[in-house]
Amino acid sequence: MRDTLVLNASFEPLSTVTLNRAVVLVLQDKAVVEQAHPELRMRGAAVDIPAPRVIRLCQYVRVPFRRRAPWSRRGVLVRDRHRCAYCGRRATTVDHVVPRSQGGQDTWLNTVAACAEDNHRKADRTPEEAGMALLRQPFEPTPADAMLLALGQEDLSALPDWLALDAA
Ligand SMILES: [Zn+2]
Repeated sequence: MRDTLVLNASFEPLSTVTLNRAVVLVLQDKAVVEQAHPELRMRGAAVDIPAPRVIRLCQYVRVPFRRRAPWSRRGVLVRDRHRCAYCGRRATTVDHVVPRSQGGQDTWLNTVAACAEDNHRKADRTPEEAGMALLRQPFEPTPADAMLLALGQEDLSALPDWLALDAA
């Protein structure tokens, strides 16, 4: 069974919960359904509601710090939409902008998606040394990217529209 995405009262994504937990929150009037599965319903003795895909808390929850997505190779490919940072074609590998042999780290700001050809051509050199310009600079994942990774999904259409917007 799929998990349900939980949004803060401010529409900011917070976490995911099980479908059952989501229904309990809705029945307790602690959350409202923002998006439901089109054909799935939750039925019980006194319950018959559409299965929530996204719920939003009625009361704002203060989050002490924004959870950051941990770095991963798959995460870099998702963030960069599988586009090579050097040529824009489909990317299947991750390139270290400053190569590891020169002290470059596994961080969001030092890694970009790259096609195998460009990754091989750049080798153990910086973009300047290799004479290869970055089409865009690496960046920390957006909340939408982080949520995709948390959900284990790579498909933007799996997200509600308003969440997918800032990742376009
Ligand atoms: Zn390329």
